[in-house]
Amino acid sequence: MPSSARLQALQTIQHRAATPAASPGALEELWASDVFSLAAMKSALPKAVFKSLQRTITRGGKLDTSVADVVAQAMKDWATSRGALYYAHVFYPLTNLTAEKHDGFIAPQSDGSVISEFTGKLLVQGEPDGSSFPNGGIRSTFEARGYTAWDVTSPAYLMQTPNGTTLCIPTVFVSWTGEALDKKTPLLRSNAAMDRQAQRLLALLGETEIAPVNSSCGAEQEYFLVDAAFTALRPDLQLAGRTLFGAPPAKGQQFDDHYFGAIPERVQVFMQDVEHQLYRLGIPAKTRHNEVAPGQFEIAPFHEAANVATDHQQLIMTVLKATAKKHGFTCLLHEKPFAGVNGSGKHVNWSIGNSTQGNLLDPGSTPHENLQFLLFCGAVIRGVHQYGPLMRAAIATASNDHRLGANEAPPAIISVYLGSQLEDVFSQIRSGSLQGSAKAALMSLGVDTLPDLNKDPGDRNRTSPFAFTGNRFEFRAVGSGQSVAGPLVVLNTILADSMQWIADQLEQRLQSGMPLEEAAFAVLQRTMEDHGAVVFGGDGYSAEWHQMAVEQRGLENLRTSADALPVLQRPEIRALFERTGVLSAVELESRFEVYAEQYNLAIDVEAKLVLRMARTQIYPAVMASLEQLAGSIGAQESLGLVVDRSMLDQMAAVTQQLLSACERLQDALVATPADAHHHLRHCADVLLPLMSEVRGAVDALEVLVDDEQWPLPTYQEMLFQR
Ligand code: ADP
Ligand code: MG
Repeated sequence: MPSSARLQALQTIQHRAATPAASPGALEELWASDVFSLAAMKSALPKAVFKSLQRTITRGGKLDTSVADVVAQAMKDWATSRGALYYAHVFYPLTNLTAEKHDGFIAPQSDGSVISEFTGKLLVQGEPDGSSFPNGGIRSTFEARGYTAWDVTSPAYLMQTPNGTTLCIPTVFVSWTGEALDKKTPLLRSNAAMDRQAQRLLALLGETEIAPVNSSCGAEQEYFLVDAAFTALRPDLQLAGRTLFGAPPAKGQQFDDHYFGAIPERVQVFMQDVEHQLYRLGIPAKTRHNEVAPGQFEIAPFHEAANVATDHQQLIMTVLKATAKKHGFTCLLHEKPFAGVNGSGKHVNWSIGNSTQGNLLDPGSTPHENLQFLLFCGAVIRGVHQYGPLMRAAIATASNDHRLGANEAPPAIISVYLGSQLEDVFSQIRSGSLQGSAKAALMSLGVDTLPDLNKDPGDRNRTSPFAFTGNRFEFRAVGSGQSVAGPLVVLNTILADSMQWIADQLEQRLQSGMPLEEAAFAVLQRTMEDHGAVVFGGDGYSAEWHQMAVEQRGLENLRTSADALPVLQRPEIRALFERTGVLSAVELESRFEVYAEQYNLAIDVEAKLVLRMARTQIYPAVMASLEQLAGSIGAQESLGLVVDRSMLDQMAAVTQQLLSACERLQDALVATPADAHHHLRHCADVLLPLMSEVRGAVDALEVLVDDEQWPLPTYQEMLFQR
C-alpha cells in the first residue's frame, strides 16, 4: 500500500467523475462570439470608419486617430455590454509567456460619479511599467518605460474567467527608445521582409497583379495531462514542469496502445470544454487525438495567418492550462515531463501565399506555376542550409534539449526532408545533366512536364526536423512549451534573405538577355549545387546520419542550448537580421542574453529542486525503510533464522552514492560562474550530468524502498491513472 499522501491522492482520483458540460449550442452561434471580429466591427462601426480600419488591417500603415476614437468607443460598448469592466493590452515578452496589464474602463467624475471611458489613445497605446520583464540589457530599471501598441491585424477578444470578463487587445511591446522587447514585433517585421522579396520574385516571374504575401502557420500542440492530486505531491512538476525523479514503470509505451486509441472519458470532457472556449475565441481547433505516450494528447487548429496563429497559439496554451485545472488535471507543456517516455513537440506547419497567386509552396499543376514553386522551394532549401544553426537556436530551451536527438524527436542537426518525388526533381536540377539549350534543359528537367505533384505524399519522415508535407513545410523540432513566434521569425527571415539572393541572381541574368526559364533554371542549379547538402531523406535518428551530416555534409550538430544559443552572436546572423530589418544588433544581442539567462535560470532551479527533494523527501523515506528492514533482519537473527542482507546492503550502498552526488551537486551550484557563456557551459557540462547522477541513485532506490514509504507518485500512477 502506498504512503498515506499518495494513497489519498489515489483515492481522490478514484472518485473523480467525468461531468460533461451543458451543450454550448450550435457551432455557428459559438464561433468567435467573444471576438471583436471584422464582422462585429462592420456592424458596430460607421461605414467610412470600418473601411479605413479594414484598409489598415489588410494593407498595413498607420491608423488615423479620429478612426481610433470611434473604434475604441465601439469596442468598449461591445465589451461592456458583455460584462467587461476591464481592458488589457496583451503582449508577448521574451519568456514564451503571455503578459497583460489590466486597466478599468472606470473614469471618476468631479461630482463623485463615474462613467466608463475608453479613447482611441488608450486603445492604440499603453504604458505598462514592465521593467521586470527580461530585456537583455536594453533598458535599465531607471529608464524602464515600455510601450504597448495595438496590433490591428490581430482582433481584440474577451477573456472570460470565473473572476470576470476582460477585453483583451493584442499589442506589440517596445522600449521608449523603440527597440522590440517582445516576440510579436519581429514577427510582423519578418513577415514584411518576406512579403517585399516574395513580391519582387513574383514580379520577375511576370506576375502583374500581386496581393500582399503573408506567411501562414498551423501549429500542432502536444501535451500531457496528469491528475492534479499527483501534481500536488510533486514539487518538480509544480516548479519545473517535469519529473526530476521517477523509475521507469513496468509498462510504458512499448505496446503503442495509447496512440490514436479511444480518448478516455474524463479527457474527452476536458477537450470539449477547451474546444468550446477556443471556438468562442475564434480559434479553429480542428483535430484532437491521443499521442504516443500514455497520458499524452494533441490538439491542432486549422492554419491561419502567422501573426494571428501565433496569438491564438498562446491562447491555446493558456486555455489548456486553465481548463485542466478546472477538471482536476495539470496540463504539462514541458517537452519532456517523463524520462524514457515520448516527449512533446509543437509541429509548426508553415507556408507563404497571397490572394492572387495562392499558396506559393503548392507544387501546382501548370508548368508556369511549377517554375514558381521550384524557385520558392529552392529559396527555402538555401535558407535552411545557410542558417540551419539559427533554426536550431530558435528552438533552444533547457526543456527542449531533453527531447531533441533523444531517438523520438528530430535530431539537433537541421536538414530538409523533401519526399522522394521532389528530392528527385531537385537532384536532377543539381546534377546539371541539363547543360544543353534552355528549352531542352527544362524539358528534360521536367519543368514543362512535371506531373501534378502528389499533394499528400504517402511517405512521411518523422525523423526529420524540417519536412515538406505536400504544400507546406513542417518544422517538427519546435518545443511544445515554446511560443511559435521565434521559429516563424527565423523561417520568414531566412526565406526573405534567400528570395532576395534569388531575385538578384535572376535579375542579373534577365538583364543580360537570358530568357526567363533558362535564367530561373541556372539560378536553381547554382542554389542546389551550393545548398543541396542540406536535403536528406533518410533516417535522421541513425548514427550514420549524425556522422555523415557533420563529416561529409558539413552540417552542424548543436546538441545543447549551450552550443546553440551563441549562434545568435555570430556576425553573419547579426548581418542577416540587420539586412532584412527584422532585428537590430542591440535587439538581437538582447535576445541572446535573455534566452541564455532563461536557460541558466531553468537549470539552476532544477538543480536546487533536485537537492531539496533528494535530501528532504527521498533521504528520510530511505532511512525509514532502512530502519524497518534492519529491524526485521535483527528480529529474524534473534530468532536464529537464516537472514539475507542483500537488499539492506544494496540500499545502503545506493544511499551512499546519493549523498555523494548531492554533495558534489551542491558544490557545483556554489561554483556557478557569473559570465553568461561560462554559466551556459556550466549548466550543460556540470550541473545536468550531476543532476542525472542524483537521479540515477533516487530511481534505483525507488525500486528498493518499501512502497509505503515512497513519498512521490510513481510514473505508473501518473501516466496511467486518470
Ligand atoms: P499531421 O499530424 O498529419 O501533420 P495535422 O492535421 O495534425 O497533420 O496538422 C496539420 C497542420 O498543418 C494543421 O494545423 C493544418 O491546418 C496545417 N496546414 C495545412 N496547410 C497549411 C499551410 N498552407 N500553411 C500552414 N499550415 C498549414
Ligand atoms: Mg500531427
